[in-house]
Amino acid sequence: MTEKACRECHMITTGVLCPKCKTTTLSDDFSGLVIVIDPAASEIAKVMGIKEKGRYALRVR
Ligand SMILES: [Zn+2]
Repeated sequence: MTEKACRECHMITTGVLCPKCKTTTLSDDFSGLVIVIDPAASEIAKVMGIKEKGRYALRVR
C-alpha cells in the first residue's frame, strides 16, 4: 500500500481520495512527515493551517 500526500491540504493517505478534501489530487512525491495530535496546541499546525489531527507531509511536489 502506497502512501500519498494531498496537494491541497498535505494530509497523508493510503486511499485514492484525500479523506479531508475528497479530491484525487494526491502525489507520491512528498517529503517530511508531521504528526499532528492536537492542532490547537501545535505551532507547526498553525503555520501549515492544519485544523484536524492526522499525518501530514511537509512538502508535496
Ligand atoms: Zn486534502
